[in-house]
Amino acid sequence: MFILFGDSYEVIIVGSGIAGSALAYHMHPFLDYLIFTDQKSPMRNTSSFSYGHCRVISPEGLEEIVRRSVSQLGEDREKMNFVYMRTHYVTELLDELSIGYIPRSFGVIPSGRRRGGPVILERIQKKIPYIKTDVRLLGFTRDKDRFEVSLRTPDGEKTVKTDKLVIATGGYAGSFDNTDNFRYKNYSIFDMVRMNGGNIINLDCIFTHPFGYDRGRRILIGKDAKKGDFVDKRGRFVFNKKIRSMIKEDRYHEIFHLLLAEADECRARGSQVYFVSGSRREEITPCVHYTSGGIETNYLGEVKGCRNLFAVGECQANGSKNNGRFPGYPFTSAIVYGKELARHLSDSRR
Ligand SMILES: Cc1cc2nc3c(=O)[nH]c(=O)nc-3n(C[C@H](O)[C@H](O)[C@H](O)COP(=O)(O)OP(=O)(O)OC[C@H]3O[C@@H](n4cnc5c(N)ncnc54)[C@H](O)[C@@H]3O)c2cc1C
Repeated sequence: MFILFGDSYEVIIVGSGIAGSALAYHMHPFLDYLIFTDQKSPMRNTSSFSYGHCRVISPEGLEEIVRRSVSQLGEDREKMNFVYMRTHYVTELLDELSIGYIPRSFGVIPSGRRRGGPVILERIQKKIPYIKTDVRLLGFTRDKDRFEVSLRTPDGEKTVKTDKLVIATGGYAGSFDNTDNFRYKNYSIFDMVRMNGGNIINLDCIFTHPFGYDRGRRILIGKDAKKGDFVDKRGRFVFNKKIRSMIKEDRYHEIFHLLLAEADECRARGSQVYFVSGSRREEITPCVHYTSGGIETNYLGEVKGCRNLFAVGECQANGSKNNGRFPGYPFTSAIVYGKELARHLSDSRR
């Protein structure tokens, strides 16, 4: 469907990954908004590589996950309480979208053969009236209480106005060894934010997954990892006995630092790490799973230093340190913030 640009919107959302799409889905009946992506398809993004693992916490598990997030990841307690008290939004959304799911050690994952990320994203996007593709954010400036937003569209450059601007542009484009899982190549978003008074923080805060392959486009997930062994070139085990039994029981998601350290030792001894399972043999390399540094916001996604500018998803930095977030947090937090921010934006116009 070809939709003309309007001259002005209440809200503009930049990016159609899980963060931008979940927000648009929840805003749909309330606000006059525009959502666009610079890619040719709204499904071309990191979210489509994801397995859709979502961290879902029971009320009994809340205190423990908040405690570990604060002590291990340097997280903000208030923010952790905010997100983890609302993880039931995830299962409610999956139910609304008729997506079946099964429990995993730290939450849920969509059932079925396809990767869970694209399944969730596709169903959400089907409920959004339209997402403009091939439209790139070039810059924005404040004009009194509104933003003037410059876009490159297939028909040339265009300026539109908006009351509120939401950046949902994903992880930043560093140059990462072994990783080619959609780090956006011309990532100029941070300069635009800085020019409008915002800060960029924690860029060294990168969550590295120990079990990447195919240049980080894939990772071994628990149900695969438990079926095989991690060995060096001579077939010797890479991990100690305790870690091996945790992998077999699919309970290794909170000890990535130990997995990375032991795999590094193997490489330092001159061998790659291989995953073997029956006839399958995969070379395993650590990969960037997500980056937790970026645009400094408060825990509601409001950019510090620039009123009415918001950042959600992987581009947002609101506390994670020490190697990032726990696995399954990105999808959960995008869904929680999507709903809460939509509510906040519609309340604030009254
Ligand atoms: C292999 C892999 C598996 C993963 N599995 C999981 C998992 O199971 N569970 C989990 O929680 N997390 C997982 N993650 C992490 C998770 O996928 C990401 O953190 C999350 O998808 C980021 O979503 P996002 O919406 O913030 O960004 P993205 O999905 O990257 O979307 C960003 C959007 O912004 C657009 N954009 C960027 N710049 C511009 C611009 N200048 N103008 C216009 N548009 C722009 C892009 O085109 C895109 O549409 C995985 C990551 C990888 C690599």
